[in-house]
Amino acid sequence: MTTPNSLSCHVTQALRASIAGDVFVPGEHGYDHARQAWNLFADQQPAAVVFAESAADVARAVKFAAAQGMRIAPQGTGHGSPSLEPLEDAILLKTARMRRVEIDPATRTARAEAGAQWQDVTVPAGEHGLAALAGTSPDVGVTGYTLGGGLGWLARRYGLAANSVTAAEIATPDGHLVRADTGHEPDLFWAVRGGGGSVGVVTALEMTLYPVRQLYAGALFFPIQRSAQVLHAWQAWTGTIPDEVTSLGRILRLPSLPEVPEPLRGRAFALVEAAYLGDADNGAALIQPLRQLGPELDTFATIPAAALAQLHMDPAQPVPFQGDGALLADAPAAAIDALVALTGPDADTSLASIEIRHLGGALARSARDAGAQPQIDAQYVMFTGGFTPTPEAGDTVRAQAQAVKDALAAWHAPYDYYNFAETPADADAVLAPASYRRLQKIKATYDPGQAIISAHPVWPTTR
Ligand SMILES: Cc1cc2nc3c(=O)[nH]c(=O)nc-3n(C[C@H](O)[C@H](O)[C@H](O)COP(=O)(O)OP(=O)(O)OC[C@H]3O[C@@H](n4cnc5c(N)ncnc54)[C@H](O)[C@@H]3O)c2cc1C
Repeated sequence: MTTPNSLSCHVTQALRASIAGDVFVPGEHGYDHARQAWNLFADQQPAAVVFAESAADVARAVKFAAAQGMRIAPQGTGHGSPSLEPLEDAILLKTARMRRVEIDPATRTARAEAGAQWQDVTVPAGEHGLAALAGTSPDVGVTGYTLGGGLGWLARRYGLAANSVTAAEIATPDGHLVRADTGHEPDLFWAVRGGGGSVGVVTALEMTLYPVRQLYAGALFFPIQRSAQVLHAWQAWTGTIPDEVTSLGRILRLPSLPEVPEPLRGRAFALVEAAYLGDADNGAALIQPLRQLGPELDTFATIPAAALAQLHMDPAQPVPFQGDGALLADAPAAAIDALVALTGPDADTSLASIEIRHLGGALARSARDAGAQPQIDAQYVMFTGGFTPTPEAGDTVRAQAQAVKDALAAWHAPYDYYNFAETPADADAVLAPASYRRLQKIKATYDPGQAIISAHPVWPTTR
């Protein structure tokens, strides 16, 4: 375990005096709770934790860090904390108290403060028959998710969440509050739409909502012994469906916990999960080839868009977790076989979930006026992970996740998906080369001294 550097009393007092929110430093009551991330495996040890109450607070914290020559790491929920570098000399700037969301049904847009979680947007948007491009989990942060691309249940129809952002409010690394949109700060506007949070601290995002009142969505559960059959059938099926269907194939080992419903508790399954933007009749016809395999449990139904948050069964509260992902140019039968060999019924594994999401559709087409991830140059993305209550469990899960990645190496795309790369990696490992080069230049303009710590670092260059 590393020990954070302490701020002097005088400096701590000055920080407290400048911030309306709370400040915690090592050794103080509340520090350990304040430094905690959603991912309980992360042991963040910053020199100070600041809970910002407003954009003005964010700007003041950033200015303070600059004046002290300190680095600063913005964080909403801490879902992305495993990929962060150590924070010993840095300020951890938490935006969790900035969760205000405004929905404008007339313009079909939402404005979400930096600490908003997806459920803060999807629920009120749903009341107007509108859907946001949220991910699978209701408590993932809108900002971190969107800055890293944002791949959700409507992705094959409407693309990455980043490319539906219409404006970003940002505190630049020198502490100025600016608005970035099609008419202002074009470089910042481009960078935050898929290039991560390396060029400033976002204080709010505005985004397009889509008219989706209901969809046909659900999961087919099969005993894990049928993994090979189910995943092969799913993969073949993905070649036949329209962009209105976004789906994934998965192997899932559910824990024996009271919050898991009785028929599923402690059991292992092969699953197909899917969401179809259309009515039940057409949806049922589309999934018929998979349904006719005879699932043990079939949850497909017409649901409101906000209920998509439950489809993937992500943990409802903070957990210790390790995982990693990879973009796959393709996932032919041999790739499915490799995956099932390592994680299927005969595997001795601590990996709780292994999923392959189907990409393509709108994700494969360069979005108009897009940001740093205009499209995804891969047909599938894999993510796998497991619960890690102890450091030893962390080592095991990390090694097994890496083994899955290695087994799929023949099908890897040239870079990984930003949001699913959970082992520390520079941004050139998770962005196309042209995007990374432009991001480096923007970083050199706005943050040449690397004051902002982001999930995937960008190394500034003017060349
Ligand atoms: C259970 C679970 C489900 C997930 N499902 C999906 C999914 O369906 N689709 C998908 O694409 N991803 C998914 N992810 C990945 C997720 O999108 C990333 O972990 C993302 O970084 C989380 O954002 P956050 O704000 O919640 O996390 P945080 O850890 O708070 O933030 C992650 C990073 O974002 C940046 N950041 C956050 N806030 C700011 C800010 N205000 N200004 C500047 N930079 C900022 C920072 O670099 C920070 O380190 C999932 C992750 C988990 C754990």
